[in-house]
Amino acid sequence: MITLTHGTLEAFNAGCTSKLNCPNHWAGEPTCKQIDLRYRSDYQFRKQIDAGMTPAQILEAERAAGAEAKAAAIVAKNAAVLARRAQATAAQRAALKAAA
Ligand SMILES: [Zn+2]
Repeated sequence: MITLTHGTLEAFNAGCTSKLNCPNHWAGEPTCKQIDLRYRSDYQFRKQIDAGMTPAQILEAERAAGAEAKAAAIVAKNAAVLARRAQATAAQRAALKAAA
């Protein structure tokens, strides 16, 4: 018996076409059916698969990109807070200088 990796087009094409029969469904991972649907409907995803990436690699890269974007957003937010704080401090300094 050939062991197929679920969540792949190969497994879908080999007959894993039902959500409930795919072990990935019960593991909370994308099913073979979902991967097939995405392959047929998502041009970027299709290009990556056709270039030799596995669905798992693409999903992992997407997760990493999401985490990076989140981290970048936090850094940008903190930078804005620090900039505001620096401005306030400068304004306070100017006010103190004017009062003196
Ligand atoms: Zn499957």
